[in-house]
This record gives sequence, C-alpha cells and structure tokens, in this order.
Amino acid sequence: MAQHYRRCVSGDSTPLTLNDSLTALRGVGERTASVLARLGLRTAGDLLGHLPIRYETEAPEADVAEATVRTEAESTPVTRSIRGEILKVRMIPGHRPRFEALLEDATGTVRLVWFNSPWVAQKIHPGLRGIAQGRAANRRGYLEMVNPRWQPLDDGPEPAKEPGRLRPIYSASAEIASARIEVLAAELLPRASGAIVDLVPAPLLARRNLAPLAEAYRMVHRPNDLAEAERGRLRLAYDELLLLQLAMAMRRWQVRHTMHAPMLPISKEIDERARSRIHFTLTPAQSGVCAEIAEDLRKSTPMNRLLQGDVGSGKTAVAVYAMLAAVAHGHQAVLVAPTEILAKQHVATIEAMLAGSRVRIAEFTGSLKAADRAAVLAGLEAGTVDLAIGTHALLLEDVKFKSLAVAVVDEQHRFGVEQRAALRAKGLGAGMVPHTLVMTATPIPRTLALSFFGDLDVSSLRGLLPGRSAPATRVMPRARSEEVYAWVRTKIAKGEQAFIVVPAIDESERGLADVASHAAALETGALSGMRIGRLHGQLSTAERAEAMAQFRDGRLDALVATIMVEVGVDVPNATMMIVEHAEQFGLAQLHQLRGRVGRGGKPGACVYIADAPTEIASKRLDALARTSDGFEIAELDLSLRGPGEFFGSRQSGLPPLKVADLSRDFPLLLEAREDATQWIGATGDLADPADAPLRRRVLATYGDALGLSDIG
Ligand code: ADP
Ligand code: MG
Repeated sequence: MAQHYRRCVSGDSTPLTLNDSLTALRGVGERTASVLARLGLRTAGDLLGHLPIRYETEAPEADVAEATVRTEAESTPVTRSIRGEILKVRMIPGHRPRFEALLEDATGTVRLVWFNSPWVAQKIHPGLRGIAQGRAANRRGYLEMVNPRWQPLDDGPEPAKEPGRLRPIYSASAEIASARIEVLAAELLPRASGAIVDLVPAPLLARRNLAPLAEAYRMVHRPNDLAEAERGRLRLAYDELLLLQLAMAMRRWQVRHTMHAPMLPISKEIDERARSRIHFTLTPAQSGVCAEIAEDLRKSTPMNRLLQGDVGSGKTAVAVYAMLAAVAHGHQAVLVAPTEILAKQHVATIEAMLAGSRVRIAEFTGSLKAADRAAVLAGLEAGTVDLAIGTHALLLEDVKFKSLAVAVVDEQHRFGVEQRAALRAKGLGAGMVPHTLVMTATPIPRTLALSFFGDLDVSSLRGLLPGRSAPATRVMPRARSEEVYAWVRTKIAKGEQAFIVVPAIDESERGLADVASHAAALETGALSGMRIGRLHGQLSTAERAEAMAQFRDGRLDALVATIMVEVGVDVPNATMMIVEHAEQFGLAQLHQLRGRVGRGGKPGACVYIADAPTEIASKRLDALARTSDGFEIAELDLSLRGPGEFFGSRQSGLPPLKVADLSRDFPLLLEAREDATQWIGATGDLADPADAPLRRRVLATYGDALGLSDIG
C-alpha cells in the first residue's frame, strides 16, 4: 500500500468533497477533465464509483532469465517488469508497422514490440536504460513483450526494484489510459476518504462481516490482493442491494399503510359460480393459486401478486376467477394484454366462457372506431361495463372507471412497473387502488424475483395441464436444415402447420435469416407449392391480424415470423415450431416459442436450428432439449449468462445494478433483504430522522420507478 501512494501522490493532500471537480487532482487541467467527463467522470464521487473492471497481477521485477522461466511455467497472463539497457532498435514498415527494441540485462535479452506507436521510436534508442512493463510471452524462443509501458531511468541513483502487486484495470478510452485513471484514483482515495459517509451502522457491518465504506473503496481501487478486492466489492454490492431492498420494503410498507382496495370476500357461492363458468375443472395447481388470490382479495390491503406459469399453463382461467370476484361484488375488472391480437383472443375466450351470464364485457383496443371507443369509455365511467379487456390503451389517462377493483396484466416478456403504477391511479381515489395480478410466461429465478419484484407476492403454475405433453425438442446444426424442412413438408402434407421463427426482419441485420428472404427461399425450395405467410413488426396491425387469421383458419401451411409478433396466439393445429439461428435468442424466449405448438391435441415438435458459437451457447440449447420445466431453464439461463443478458432490471423498469452480480451474490441478497425488512419494520418507512440521508438516496434511486416519491 504505502509505497504506491509514495509513487503516485505528490504534495497536495487537501481534503476533497465528493462533489469537487476532478480538476482538483494533480495534473488534471481542462483538457483531461473533458476527456474524463466523456467517461462520465466529473466529480470526485464519480471517480470513486468508477470501479475497476478487473485486476492484473503484476509480478515483482525480475531479471530476464527468471522472467523467462516463470513465463513458461505460469499459464495465466501476468504483467512482468524487467529493467535493462536497450541494445538495438529497428523499425519494421508494412501494413502494420512495428518498432522493435532488444532490452538486455546481465542474464539475457527480451524483445519489446510496439505496434502503431510511432512516438516510441523518438523516445527509445540504444544505450538507454529503463524499465519495461507488460504482458510477457515466449515467442519463437524469445521472451517478448507487446506494447509494454516504458519508464526511462536517468543517470541518477537506480530506484529499488518494485515488489509485485495487483493493478486495477479501469474502463478507459482512446484518450485516457487505465493507468492514468489508476494514478488519479490513487491520489483521490486518501484525499476523499474523509468525505465518504457510511450510511450503514457499524454494528450491522460487524454482524455481516463487511468492511467500512471508505475502506471498501480503498480495497477495490488499491487492493493488496484479490481477496481484498473481493471484500471491497462485497461491501459495495451489499450497499447496492440494501438500497434496492429498502426501496422494496418501503414500497410494501407504503402499500400496507397508505393504500386500500375494496374487500372482495369469495363466498362458497361466488366460488362455485365462478368455477362453473370455466368450461373445465381447474387443476390442483390452478385451484391453489385461486385460493391464494381469494385470500388476498378478502383483505383491504391491495393484492400485488405475480403469477408465473409457462405458456399454456392455464393462467387465463385464474385471471377470470379473480375478475369474477370483482364483478360479483358489483365492481369492475380489467384485463390488459401485451398486444392487440392477444387482447382479441382473450375477448373471444372470455366471451365464450361467460356467454349467458350477466357480465358485460367490452373490448378496448387501439383499433376501435372513435364512436365505439367513446361508448366504451362512457360505459367504464358509468359502470355499465363490468369487464374491460384490451391493450395498454386501457392505461391511458382518459380511461376512467366507476369502480375498478381487480386489474390483471398479462405480460409475455416484460413486467411493467409503470403499468402497475398507472393501474393504481385508476382506483377509486383517496388511497383506494385495485387489486393487481401480473401474469407472466417468463419464469423469474428467485434471485431476480427478490431483487426486482420484491414488493410482489409470487404464485407459480408449474407442470402441464391434463392431456398435454411437452413438445419433443431437437437441436440441429444448420448443415442439416434441409432434413428439417423435408420433415416439415411431410407433416404439412398431413394437414399440420408450422411456425418458422427467424431473428431478423430484413437481411441487412448481420446476415441472419430474415422474414422476406427466408419465406421466399422456402417457397421456391424446400416448401415449394406450400402456402407460406409472413408476419413481422413492420406490418400494420391489420396486416398482422390478417396473416394470423389466415394461419389460424388453415389458409396458410407455414408462417415465417419474427419473435416479437403474435406467436402468442393459440393455433391448435400448429404442431411444428422451427427456430432459425436459435443461438440468437434467449433461453426463456426459445422455451416460450415451443409452448406455442401442440396445443390442440396433436403432439408438438420443436426444432432449434443453430450453430452454437460457444460452449455456453451449446449448453443452453442442450438444456432446452433436456428439460421442459421453464423454472429450471430460467435458473440455468441466469447461472450461464448472468442477469444482464437474461432478464434484468430493464424488464422490471428499475435502474440496473452496477456492482452486485446476482448470479453469485445470492447469499448477500438474502442478507440485504433481511436487514432492509428489519430496518423498515423498526422505523416505518425510514421515518427516523437519523435515516433521512439514506431515505433520500433510496428515493433518488428508486423513487420514480417504484412510485415512492409521492410520499414526500
Ligand atoms: P396461458 O395463458 O397460461 O398460456 P391459457 O390460459 O391460454 O394458458 O390455457 C391454455 C389452454 O389450456 C387453453 O386452451 C385453456 O382453455 C386450456 N386449459 C386451461 N386450464 C385447463 C384445465 N384445467 N383443464 C383443461 N384445459 C385447460
Ligand atoms: Mg395467456
């Protein structure tokens, strides 16, 4: 430690506040400041929070012989330092001009190579002494360093040999190197440490064995070893998770204490009437979730529940059950679908279920004619509509309800925190909000559920409905796609239908299969003579609806589509799901896609055509062929790819986590959650004046996304 500071820090040690400009640091003038600003670094606090992206082991200074032996022996790349005298230099012109220098010490020579660095030639010449520092490799019997750092030694007394250490590597830019940021951070740390306010009380830190905050920043920026860097990271990750969990706990507390919903006790009679409306007998899993919902609806605390279940797991019936509870009590219910086509499908299904009942259903979508729209709006406001089914258009401001008691949001890929907020605003006013049920076909791993949906209660529908079987799944290399389509052809000849999903809309995108050219290729090739439709997001709503209707009615044999379009619609006769470039899709998406086939009694089959570029990619695809449990797949996807890729804060509408890594920080997350719950429980909404700074930070970070700011 100490010696780094000696090397990096000069005289100025005046303390800094976290809001001070980085120009207060030595050697940072206007130009450097603007370069730093382009990395988002303006203040001392910014730089403090600019954490190293990794660390590099820097070996102690060694002579050439020793460095050669060690480089041969060690497999991980290590930065080496060698001092000596330049023996000779040469410039090698060409396509990639390079400058080479031989550095010699008493034990041998090392070759230094610089590419595209013409300035080096001006600085380095035979006879010069200095220290070269960089990744070393043995190449053609020679020890070689590529683009090493060069520190000339002048004629004065030779500095002592540097011991080894760990170097932080920062995300940098062409204009400023990581090494420069390292020096700035080293100067900043001691000067700013007094300004770092630790909002977590010492007893809590002791209980969780976490480092104090200022020390944690020192550990991540200037670690003595990797264990220390990790200890520092853990503390910062804990803070991040604690903040998030405090926000969640505040939200739960706020819902409990400031919001109410109409009490909707489900009597035996209501229960029986609702069940008799649903054509089939609810499975034990569905009944279980209905019971959980009934328990929520009984209370005046608003239900805030997430229902997760694979495509085809029977979520709609559960939604209908909840909505009928509202109607039975003389209130209204709403069902919001992610797309217009899915909304229309819900209307058809639910109208069929409720035919002959007194429930007045209205469809509300963007394609409604102005007069119809006005009529529905009036009906909702007057209370002559009991059940509104539509798209997010239902969440627009001009939609007013007489007495909205249950709101169901059916989502495929994302969960809108904003939607939930918008729905709450449609309640009866004066703190009265509807009970909400968010349904998703994307199972959420537990870590993510706790992190991003911690204010929700979660119900799960696992397992298949009676009479269903999971589609047979295969992964095939591209080279065998001819075989796949030959098989598709024979099945189509028997009257079955195929979805064919491609990753792109037009071929400009990275040479992947696109809807237009893939459909055309199939029409003239493997599926010639068959009726092939096209479906993608650039078509108008009417065109999409038309393609979907043609496919559903059997006027098309195959539908070539992009993923985001309405493959969510039920087409009982579709038995085949072919996914081109499957490696381009997320596991959860791939799993959802195969859920679209085999829904009409005939078994479904799914083929993922993929040339998996990496081992991870091929592991992911193999997992899909192995299991049909969406929950298992979600956990696996998280562990293989991490939350950023899989499903993260983006879908939840919350700002991303920067330090915490949910695939490995699960224990820390549980601790943070426990601590946050206790904390909020003790002070209620962080109301203790001592918690004011913490409360401000929670609100600044999550207030908007979680609708917390409105409580002052
Ligand atoms: P999800 O919305 O979860 O994807 P759905 O609610 O659309 O699934 O249900 C899929 C299909 O299964 C629908 O055709 C529905 O009528 C049927 N279904 C749902 N529950 C049952 C049940 N308990 N018994 C038989 N069929 C059911
Ligand atoms: Mg559904």
